[in-house]
Amino acid sequence: MVSRVIPVDPFELVIFGATGDLARRKILPGLYRRFLAGQIPPEARIIGAARADLAPDAFREQVAEAVTEFVPHTLRDPKVLADFLKHLDYIAIDAKGEGGWAQLKSTLRPGVIQVFYFSVAPGLFGDLAERLNSLGIAGPDARIVVEKPFGRDLASARALNATLARHFEERQIYRIDHYLGKETVQNLMAVRFANILFEPLWKSEYVDHVQITVAETVGVEGRGTYYDTSGAMRDMVQNHLMQLLCLIAMEPPYHFDPNAVRDEKLKVIRALDPVHPDDIVRGQYLPGGGEGGYTDHAENPASRTESYVALRAHISNWRWKGTPFYLRTGKRLRARASEIAITFKEPPHSIFDDETGWRENVLVIRLQPDEGMHLMVMIKEPGPGGMRLTQVPLDMSFADALGAEHAETPDAYERLIMDVIRGNQTLFMRGDEVEAAWAWTDPIIQGCEARGDRPQAYDPGSSGPEDALMLMHRDGRRWREIR
Ligand code: NAP
Repeated sequence: MVSRVIPVDPFELVIFGATGDLARRKILPGLYRRFLAGQIPPEARIIGAARADLAPDAFREQVAEAVTEFVPHTLRDPKVLADFLKHLDYIAIDAKGEGGWAQLKSTLRPGVIQVFYFSVAPGLFGDLAERLNSLGIAGPDARIVVEKPFGRDLASARALNATLARHFEERQIYRIDHYLGKETVQNLMAVRFANILFEPLWKSEYVDHVQITVAETVGVEGRGTYYDTSGAMRDMVQNHLMQLLCLIAMEPPYHFDPNAVRDEKLKVIRALDPVHPDDIVRGQYLPGGGEGGYTDHAENPASRTESYVALRAHISNWRWKGTPFYLRTGKRLRARASEIAITFKEPPHSIFDDETGWRENVLVIRLQPDEGMHLMVMIKEPGPGGMRLTQVPLDMSFADALGAEHAETPDAYERLIMDVIRGNQTLFMRGDEVEAAWAWTDPIIQGCEARGDRPQAYDPGSSGPEDALMLMHRDGRRWREIR
């Protein structure tokens, strides 16, 4: 199967923070890959901006190095790279200063799609938005892309929304959550809404519970100071896990339209019950395997910030009343694995005498690694041993099902940047969605702080704290193995 590349219209993309880590690792290599795929038109321009006083050629040199480092060698082509670099320019601009803005204004061509990517610290978003607007640089249809974190609580998210809203309309603001750009996440919507098979079963009557796991093997090293002001609830649950939960739980939108999809997600967030203190477990990883523990990397050795969290959430609406959603995420765990598992209920009546091999049907949606879906179904164990049951997966590995062409699925950032250029906000969080997510998250964090909860220690390379296992055991359920 050959992938279809839909070219975008000519654009000018200004990346503020173009010399930073995110631009180097994700944004610029992603743009190279889209160029390689033929999606970037000849008239497109990518303008890097940061305070560093770099000549455009020195910036191009940095980008060439980033592509060499972060693009697989099978996709690296010196001729294509040289052509890609011709689309690049650089202007030294301080978000808080005066220099460079006039040059930026004079270089942008009227009538071409304008995208301003704020890949800088959130404290600079307001300065950038203000200058782009007051200096008349951003046109009425310009788009801005803002990176996470979008606030650290409801009050700061509201303030940030208000700041951006002073200069840009909501239709111009793209709040990025790269989880939504993953192939499998979008496939979740295709599976749910393009098939009749699942929808009748997609409710508490048939779904026993849902597990959402985002496990990382890395710790916070290098990011300890920042992370310690955040923790897993803010860094992962409020945004990424929440978005995944919404896509599973939402009602079918009337159309695959940005606001229709986001309206349905918002309803889910608003229907989430407050989390009971007994339904949350926080953890911190210990030293091990030659690496320091969480508190060795945090500025405060007595830090109570969680590097792991597991919780049980309930959605109070007709579809989901009574079906728990178990969420967990953590650092320095056994494996790097992100997946959603939907476990269905037992059949109402069994006709088989021997049910020793019986297990529930589970739909596993794997986000990384090995993007794909597996539906665990019961069949007869092969052989002459009578009617014995066994469970097998109905597999849909994207790499296998779609062939080599798709084995290297585009990175989430590539896809999302192309969506911004196309003006499609479906996979970006709307301001009210972000605020609703904080409104649910804030009391959980505040509750833990008010109770003085200490995170439970866990071993690196494990599947998290003991109490997290108990969170499910007490309900007669168990977490899926992290692998
Ligand atoms: P970073 O490595 O610290 O880079 C920051 C960039 O901003 C640099 O290019 C820096 O260059 C520029 N900058 C700093 N102050 C500036 C100013 N006053 N005016 C103009 N440019 C300025 O940060 P990062 O890791 O790339 O993160 C960028 C944003 O993405 C942050 O909001 C972060 O939370 C978010 N994010 C990052 C990641 C990631 O994996 N890195 C993941 C998710 C979200 P100069 O010093 O030369 O100005």
